[in-house]
Amino acid sequence: MFKQNSSFNPQEFITDILKESDPVKREEKLAAELVRMGFEIDGLTERLKQEIDTKGELEVLLKTNPDTNLPIYRVLVQRLEEMVEKGEAFWIAQLRLDAVYQRIKNQRDRSKALLFITTLRIKRIIGDTLYQSDRLDEFFILMEGDQTSNSIARILSSIEKNIELPHEGPAGDISFGANMGFVRFPEHGGKPSELLTNLDTALRHGAGNRKRIIEFTQVIGDAYDRQLRIETDLHRAIQSGFENFYLVYQPFVDSKGLICGCESLIRWKHPEYGMIPPPHFIPIAERNGDIRFFGRWILYKSLMALRAWRTQGFPDLFVSVNLSPVQFLQRDLVTSIQDALASADVPGGCLKLEITEGAIMSEPVESIEKMHTLKHLGIRLSIDDFGTGYSSLNYLRKLPIDTLKIDKSFIDDIASNIQNQEIVKAILAMAHSLGIETLAEGVEDSLQKDFLWKQGCKYIQGYYYSKPVGEPEFAEYLDKGAILAGGGPA
Ligand code: C2E
Ligand code: CA
Ligand code: CA
Repeated sequence: MFKQNSSFNPQEFITDILKESDPVKREEKLAAELVRMGFEIDGLTERLKQEIDTKGELEVLLKTNPDTNLPIYRVLVQRLEEMVEKGEAFWIAQLRLDAVYQRIKNQRDRSKALLFITTLRIKRIIGDTLYQSDRLDEFFILMEGDQTSNSIARILSSIEKNIELPHEGPAGDISFGANMGFVRFPEHGGKPSELLTNLDTALRHGAGNRKRIIEFTQVIGDAYDRQLRIETDLHRAIQSGFENFYLVYQPFVDSKGLICGCESLIRWKHPEYGMIPPPHFIPIAERNGDIRFFGRWILYKSLMALRAWRTQGFPDLFVSVNLSPVQFLQRDLVTSIQDALASADVPGGCLKLEITEGAIMSEPVESIEKMHTLKHLGIRLSIDDFGTGYSSLNYLRKLPIDTLKIDKSFIDDIASNIQNQEIVKAILAMAHSLGIETLAEGVEDSLQKDFLWKQGCKYIQGYYYSKPVGEPEFAEYLDKGAILAGGGPA
């Protein structure tokens, strides 16, 4: 067995470990050895370098990752070029360790020991066809041969099972897995760069869709291209005057069938892809920071529409504007809302803001303070999608909120689902006892509406009364007396 003060020969070290035929014992032996060395992977690496240097094998050193002893990415690309040149079938897989590994990544020596063991586990199945990516937690497998997708998936699945075997640790066992994507040559690309791009696309797609092992397909590639295009176009559209964006307004109706306010909802008509649903682009704007400009624009436009309706003779009408979680947490939120109210020249009492429980709970202390500041400006607050998050009575008591919007998922099958009926009844009773108004969203039929009115829900929003409509149509509703067909309780 390798001794710490002897000259270190990695090959000997690995061969010695591999002599042990029982895989579990083998792993224990390796782990024990690494522990005995005090997880001094850096020291080990240093000795490895010296060893190779003295042998004059600088070339090997330059092509090997010092932590895992695997050939590096550049070597993979060279090998890929050779194989593409040869023109015979092969496949490549990309493996990225999952979020559990990411969590221990900062425990330097331990994570490196686990990394090393992981590479041995993979090699046990596919031999010496493993390469190190530029990221330490990512590997490539490059295998010759015309294998079917199924047989590649089977190999990767057994690798996955091996990676997932638990590792003993000082604070209990730890187990992590990997996401994997694969491509086949020549089906998925004729050039190394194309194969590698498609591979990465497959891996991202798999990770985003909770698929552990995924093969690249043209559909995945197209979806990825489309996503990139949407990201670029969104940024451009927001920066250049919000072209192709507009707002629609969906009425809130009280139990007499009267419109008392509305929710403003953003719409984006992409010149090529047509209507893109807000949940597909709001998160992008949150990620790239554009939500700041976007949010201000939405707020201003909503308030300007409201101003027009107020002067039409409806001074008590209010508009309810969605705040995305990132937007709600922004430091300058209050000032930007004050600015918008001032520019549109309407009082704070005309504005309601819809916030989700998740946004509030991610920074509860600051959030509650911010909510109080908004309340002082006369602005009213709604909890959106209520029932899908924490829904704890204790925190609800501490929040200065006016309205609970009961999530559509409870309303959908309320006529037939007794459990949802009970949940909605409980929410209505609780809100009532706390002096909070209730609004049910996504009401589509008269059975739902009748149940809700009977149980004392204060407002209803949904296709049953009206879909979201443009500003002129909303003004027409008002012109006709602000009463919507369908009326109040049966
Ligand atoms: P949300 O705030 O829960 O909005 C309600 C969604 O349900 C809207 O979808 C609305 O059109 C839809 N809806 C209303 N009544 C019915 C109904 O009876 N049946 C059905 N099937 N659907 C109904 P939309 O406009 O696609 O918006 C989806 C989500 O995108 C919103 O969910 C909100 O989270 C977000 N969003 C929309 N507009 C904005 C905005 O201006 N700013 C921000 N930050 N988020 C927005
Ligand atoms: Ca909403
Ligand atoms: Ca909602």
